[in-house]
Amino acid sequence: MNPVLLVTGGSRGIGAATARLAAARGWDVAVNYARDEAAAQAVAAEVRALGRRAWALQADVADDAQVRALFATLDREAGALDGLVNSAGVVDAAARVDEMSAARVARMFAINVLGTFACAREALRRMSRRHGGRGGAIVNVSSVAATLGSPAQYVDYAASKGAVDTFTVGLAREVATEGVRVNAVRPGIIDTEIHASGGEPDRARRLAASVPMQRAGQADEVAAAIVWLLSAEAAYATGALLDVSGGR
Ligand code: NAP
Repeated sequence: MNPVLLVTGGSRGIGAATARLAAARGWDVAVNYARDEAAAQAVAAEVRALGRRAWALQADVADDAQVRALFATLDREAGALDGLVNSAGVVDAAARVDEMSAARVARMFAINVLGTFACAREALRRMSRRHGGRGGAIVNVSSVAATLGSPAQYVDYAASKGAVDTFTVGLAREVATEGVRVNAVRPGIIDTEIHASGGEPDRARRLAASVPMQRAGQADEVAAAIVWLLSAEAAYATGALLDVSGGR
């Protein structure tokens, strides 16, 4: 049997690129999505075309009951879990902190932080040797925004990714003897649809000049780092925060 990977937010962008590359490297892949079933099914079909098993599984990672149901479905369908990539994440429209509603900030943290936390918890209950599992790897998709703070853009988003970084380091150390490695990638400006969802479809192109490499990154370039962190080649890497940002 191939190892089994769950990618949250696997229907688009960095998550979809990760699902495709992981399949090419021998993983069976569960593609989680929130709303866009057609996109998730298309990614699952690409995974199957590579000869792997694939499942498109709907769940809002911000809803703990839905996360538990997602993992229960995966238990039934795949019968194992060896890797988790927490790529589900959102931004919001550019705003100052003194303009942000409580509801906006709560949604940001519910998806980006609590969703990551809940999925990692469920994965650990299956992969950790402490729970009778056979080990595994978790990769959280953070952002260089965690180090930059994103002033006058979305400080709430940057702070949520700061929480993901701290969670990654703490959890990595907590489970280091249990066969589970926990790492994060911190992408810079990557050319995906996330910028349109924040009301600025042209953001990646507009900000390219602020990147030392003078260009936005591609989802495939982030996926390569994620799939490496999942692999046995990264056997001694845990608690790492790997910037994939063109130097930003
Ligand atoms: P994207 O193209 O907008 O894709 C987002 C994905 O997350 C979609 O598959 C979406 O599913 C899913 N999703 C959103 N809310 C969800 C929820 N509540 N539950 C489950 N799935 C949910 O975004 P991306 O650019 O690939 O970003 C992926 C990750 O990289 C995010 O964590 C983001 O913060 C991080 N990142 C991105 C950049 C960048 O410049 N693109 C830079 C740094 C970090 P549906 O389409 O079905 O709703």
